[in-house]
Amino acid sequence: MTQLTPVLSAHWDEKDSFTIEGYKRHGGYTASAKALTMDPDAIIQLIKDSGLRGRGGAGFPTGMKWGFIPQGDNREHYLVVNADESEPGTCKDTPLLMANPHVLIEGCIIACHAIRAKHAFIYIRGEVTHVVRRVNQAIEDAYKAGLLGNGIDVVLHIGAGAYICGEETALLDSLEGFRGQPRLRPPFPAIAGLYARPTVVNNVESIASVPAIIANGAEWYQSMGTEKSKGATLYSLSGHVNNPGQFEAPLGITLREILELSGGIRTGHTLKFWTPGGSSTPLFTAEHLDVPLDYEGVSAAGSMLGTKALQIFDETTCVVRAVLRWTEFYKHESCGKCTPCREGTWWLVQLLRDLEAGKGTEADLAKLLDLCDNIMGRSFCALGDGATSPITSSIKYFRDEYIAHITHGGCPFDPVASTLFAGAGA
Ligand code: SF4
Repeated sequence: MTQLTPVLSAHWDEKDSFTIEGYKRHGGYTASAKALTMDPDAIIQLIKDSGLRGRGGAGFPTGMKWGFIPQGDNREHYLVVNADESEPGTCKDTPLLMANPHVLIEGCIIACHAIRAKHAFIYIRGEVTHVVRRVNQAIEDAYKAGLLGNGIDVVLHIGAGAYICGEETALLDSLEGFRGQPRLRPPFPAIAGLYARPTVVNNVESIASVPAIIANGAEWYQSMGTEKSKGATLYSLSGHVNNPGQFEAPLGITLREILELSGGIRTGHTLKFWTPGGSSTPLFTAEHLDVPLDYEGVSAAGSMLGTKALQIFDETTCVVRAVLRWTEFYKHESCGKCTPCREGTWWLVQLLRDLEAGKGTEADLAKLLDLCDNIMGRSFCALGDGATSPITSSIKYFRDEYIAHITHGGCPFDPVASTLFAGAGA
């Protein structure tokens, strides 16, 4: 059985893991010292060789992204770290930054050197004030220690809490002071990103993974994971489980294994459905317990690895109600730029509300699928597509439950028993 492999989370249980002293005690900032003596192109090659892929959802190879930055162009280059963690169920960057903000700062130093950038911007959600304070303190301490300010600066930017600003080009607009809405591509950020300069946008976990690769080598990283999905990663387990939290394991571990290692479904209950990568990824059921949780395995089974947010729901949960809640979220967070998403998500909510309340018909169910078909692939960014995923996948696996709402004239579930917030073991 695949075991947990704490790399990023190795010292999270130490009470001073977030301090510069705690970080240095375990070799912190030696990787950046080594990297600063290396040729930038050699660092990019090392990251390419390691097989590290973006941990924010898309899984794009990190070294290749860095390699797209034009060299010798005499223009400013920028590194932007996407810490705008907002997808329902996704909660990996927040604990990482609380437990070890210095690994991100060290990763920023290495990445800036590799792409020949002098400035890194960390874009973080404004609501997570405790994380903002922690990262601010870490940046301040890194400046005092002389680790920043000698050719590389890190700026923390606090967002205003829009889900869409997690989309990289909307994030760049927001960072520039505009309303956060996705940009038309091309040009891609590597050519014209922040302030129209070549820019790398990486997720927190991607950049935080870099120091260990520099310290231990590409082969060490390659030794974990599967053929095309290398390394270890943070899986966020939440919902109806006995022991929710972060579980760091090699890519390719299965949900069955994670549940066995973590304490399982809440006592006395059984798995009904789950998300492999947050609520915008198609749902899985108990039949997918042995799907390898890597980019290829999850995709072959009909979903996406996304942010590895494993939200677990047991048999007491009404799937229609859960899907309605997620769809309300996507409707609320639609930035309004394109019609399929702006109008479509509003109509999705109306239809789902009727169905959930027992006022819908089978024709509404067909209309719901037709609407999803008109949003999917016709929206300007991934938010529109993602909003349809829980709907289409839940109808695929739980059509009977939608029909039961129609014939029953309401939700057939006990509203108390089906609460998503019941305590573990309840
Ligand atoms: Fe905005 Fe939605 Fe269109 Fe994305 S899909 S640009 S969030 S309206």
